[in-house]
Amino acid sequence: MSQQDKTALRELLQKQREAFTLARPEGLDLRRDRIGRAIALLKENADALCQAMSADFGNRSPHQSMITDIAGTVAFGKYCLKHLEKWARSEKRHVQFPLGLLGAKAELRYEPKGVVGILSPWNFPVNLSFGPLMQVLAAGNRAMIKPSEFTERTSALSAELCAKYFDEREVAFVTGGPEVAQEFSSLPFDHLVFTGSTATGRKVMEAAARNLCPVTLELGGKSPVFLGRGADLERAGERIAMGKMMNAGQICLAPDYMYVPHDQEDAAIAAVELGVHRMYPTLLENDDYASVVTDRHFDRLKAMVEDARDKGAEVIEVNPGKEDFSNTNARKMPLTILRNVTDEMQAMQEEIFGPVLPVRTYREIGEAIDYVNDRDRPLGLYYFGGDPGEREEVLTRTISGGVTVNDVIFHVSMEDLPFGGVGPSGIGAYHGVEGFREFSHARAVYTQPKIDVAKLGGFKPPYGPATEKAVRGLMK
Ligand code: NAD
Repeated sequence: MSQQDKTALRELLQKQREAFTLARPEGLDLRRDRIGRAIALLKENADALCQAMSADFGNRSPHQSMITDIAGTVAFGKYCLKHLEKWARSEKRHVQFPLGLLGAKAELRYEPKGVVGILSPWNFPVNLSFGPLMQVLAAGNRAMIKPSEFTERTSALSAELCAKYFDEREVAFVTGGPEVAQEFSSLPFDHLVFTGSTATGRKVMEAAARNLCPVTLELGGKSPVFLGRGADLERAGERIAMGKMMNAGQICLAPDYMYVPHDQEDAAIAAVELGVHRMYPTLLENDDYASVVTDRHFDRLKAMVEDARDKGAEVIEVNPGKEDFSNTNARKMPLTILRNVTDEMQAMQEEIFGPVLPVRTYREIGEAIDYVNDRDRPLGLYYFGGDPGEREEVLTRTISGGVTVNDVIFHVSMEDLPFGGVGPSGIGAYHGVEGFREFSHARAVYTQPKIDVAKLGGFKPPYGPATEKAVRGLMK
């Protein structure tokens, strides 16, 4: 990245911050107008954006893109519009006795932070750029967005459209590769939202730390599925297959591996296979099934399966149409189930992020709980089963960013629930009121009454008996 480009990036931030400062206070109508424009951008250019995403992936169903990237994000924008006024209301807080009687007041105001940087990944390139944007705008901020270099066409189109719908001092896209991303993360934003891998998240947090810039990190991890003893296997199998096959498993919340009762392993695997057969009679010529995003990502998944095979796993390819995958460059991979996995295998060490499903078995549910607790806290955790006692045991003895019971992934689509990880799967959250607060500064405002409170309370020098009395009173 040239020095000139670096300077231009800093100047853009400077311009946004100056405009932000100069325009304060901005009314809620302006925030609504900005969210409205982001919604209009998505609605009016939905087809072009879906085509760009499909071209970037090699193949990606426009239907899927409409659901996951366009409609889902528009709906989230509308949710923000609906709740904005309530979220932005300042709150009266209590003051200690007897300050209230003397006229003191405490108030909490949710104020914009300023300019928020948004760094987004390739797997849902529109949703994960414009989704955070909706709430960043709801909180009254300006935004600079750096989308992923792997979805180049979508990123270029988003940048072009953004310039049509927004003044660059309100919202601006910056495109480029890891070098630009690195420079971007070192800018002194007022807040930085990063969605991507745990490894890159670490670097982003280090860069942000130099500016003491607060971060929201939406990361990944190995989200486990617990199949309880009473689970309806057919239903669970289909839902797990759907979660693992959507976007070809390239979802941060995709079920990573599955834990099943040891005497139900065959039946559980058969149920997942049945689910695949029902939803995807073929894969290669089927537009509903996405490609793996690049050759590099594809090779990594292939190597992961070979590594498991070499180390003794049984490999089951679910290929409903009996298609030949060996002579194609479509980067499509059938769902690949791994049995008899061990911790030495790559597939059990890193986030899979593709259509590979390791299966582990337990005799007591506690073994599965211990296994999960021994590892990084996952982004999502899934429990299937009808036994409330068992469900609560799993939920209360584990920790994860979020949970879906009797399905996978779905908790992220509940707009009113915060979405985020914990520790290595993320820091902070958005969606729900939590997202508005994440991108706001909760500013404490205290108003002192006319009376000399410090003297009355014994806190004013010269210290003496009144002070000692006050201290005793505080500790009583
Ligand atoms: P990634 O970490 O490789 O890249 C994400 C973004 O970071 C890109 O825009 C990239 O340009 C930028 N980047 C790359 N190097 C950087 C650096 N040194 N400094 C700063 N930025 C840098 O992630 P990815 O491969 O695009 O996405 C897949 C990962 O994202 C998976 O781990 C997945 O679980 C995670 N993810 C998480 C969520 C969530 O909401 N929690 C959603 C989607 C994906």
